[in-house]
Amino acid sequence: MTGKQITEWDRIQSILRAEIGDDAFNAWIKNLNFKNIEDGTVLFSARTPFVRDWVRRHYADRIKELWEREGAKVFSVDITVDKKTAADSSFSGAAGAGKAFAKGVLTDSFGSVLDPRYTFDSFVVGKSNELAYAAARRAAESEQVLFNPLFLHGGVGLGKTHLMHAIASEVTRLHPGRKVMYLSAEKFMYQFITAIRSKTTVEFKRQFRTVELLMIDDVQFIANKESTQEEFFHTFNALIDNRRQVIISADRSPTDLAGIEERIRSRLGWGLVADIHPTDYELRLGILQTKSENFENVQIPKDVLEFLASKITSNVRELEGALNRVVAYTELTGRLVTIDMTRSVLQDLLRANDRKVTIDEIMRQVSDYYNLRLSEILSARRARDIARPRQVAMYLAKQMTSRSLPEIGRKFGGRDHTTVMHAVRKIDDLRRTDSTLEDDLNRLSHLLEG
Ligand code: ADP
Ligand code: MG
Repeated sequence: MTGKQITEWDRIQSILRAEIGDDAFNAWIKNLNFKNIEDGTVLFSARTPFVRDWVRRHYADRIKELWEREGAKVFSVDITVDKKTAADSSFSGAAGAGKAFAKGVLTDSFGSVLDPRYTFDSFVVGKSNELAYAAARRAAESEQVLFNPLFLHGGVGLGKTHLMHAIASEVTRLHPGRKVMYLSAEKFMYQFITAIRSKTTVEFKRQFRTVELLMIDDVQFIANKESTQEEFFHTFNALIDNRRQVIISADRSPTDLAGIEERIRSRLGWGLVADIHPTDYELRLGILQTKSENFENVQIPKDVLEFLASKITSNVRELEGALNRVVAYTELTGRLVTIDMTRSVLQDLLRANDRKVTIDEIMRQVSDYYNLRLSEILSARRARDIARPRQVAMYLAKQMTSRSLPEIGRKFGGRDHTTVMHAVRKIDDLRRTDSTLEDDLNRLSHLLEG
């Protein structure tokens, strides 16, 4: 390991400590020994198999994300048990259920690790993802190539990788001999560059020629990387021409893939393009219910699940992370799961999800509510039926966003921060005595929180 990596690991540890609290940090993360990063895998050793399993289950995904945020090329987290107990086997791949790994690591035909938790069965279907789900299932089950390529797109943490791993596992189960390859676009590039350096591009190309189902995840990664794009395009065309199934994912649609050549974008859209929309409340609740059934020793009350579904709206990964953290907390402290406890354990996450209300949305919502035009809210007019709603909007901007008074002033047609401060105080006073205003404020914040 290098000095730089040690500093990075120190930084990651302080973020983790802040996120999971001192108790959990001391119990788990402190019992890990950072060893190295090798070929995209962060290596740790753990004191005991128990620590290893726990960290895998609850923190490995997060550790991987934090390394990525440090700019490291990390595809997986690997935890071994310290020498004395080394017989307990090592582990490769992202966090996985210990049980499934006891049977052996699940991989595609070329040794890439598949997450055993990412199956069709564990994927909860709702309006926002039913098309992508159905298409993925068809692609996995069909004997023929029905649509080529299948292009899955949607924002981060909405299940693209989950569906791709599910396809790989299902195909491997239904058609054991079929050559399936799953890799991220990043890994594709990494392998390609390594092949160039070691003058083995012929072998690199040959390995793709034998593939019967190729899946490339997060293809937006090769934007602006010209030679990788070129190579990708050759591989892609060769497979499609040979009627081999290709499945691609990206965080946006083919047409929106800036930095990728027009001819490639257009060809990516030739087959079936299926998008995954952001989750709605029902789907989030469904996902939480399904996931919470996997925790044998912890009961999570319905009102807590509903609370989480309404508060953590960003994406499924955060939703899962939130649930895992609550579960880890009860398992460690023995405390019952309640809304209050959840609120305090998830302080930072809840704040980050709150921050999503913008000043623009507040101005729009308030002008709608009072039947005004946005231009009137922003104008200099002081008539009471405009000035009061304007103050309400400023007040809500202060309460519901993390913007400073000067920033709010600027947004409201370039007003001074003292004007905003005055509005905030005024409304704060008035709402105590004016019940109509109090109602308006409650209704507005409800509308804004969605
Ligand atoms: P993406 O690749 O789109 O960024 P992932 O596939 O990595 O997202 O999903 C993030 C996490 O959320 C994973 O743990 C995945 O299992 C989970 N997840 C996403 N969508 C669903 C779903 N519909 N049902 C169950 N779990 C889901
Ligand atoms: Mg993904």
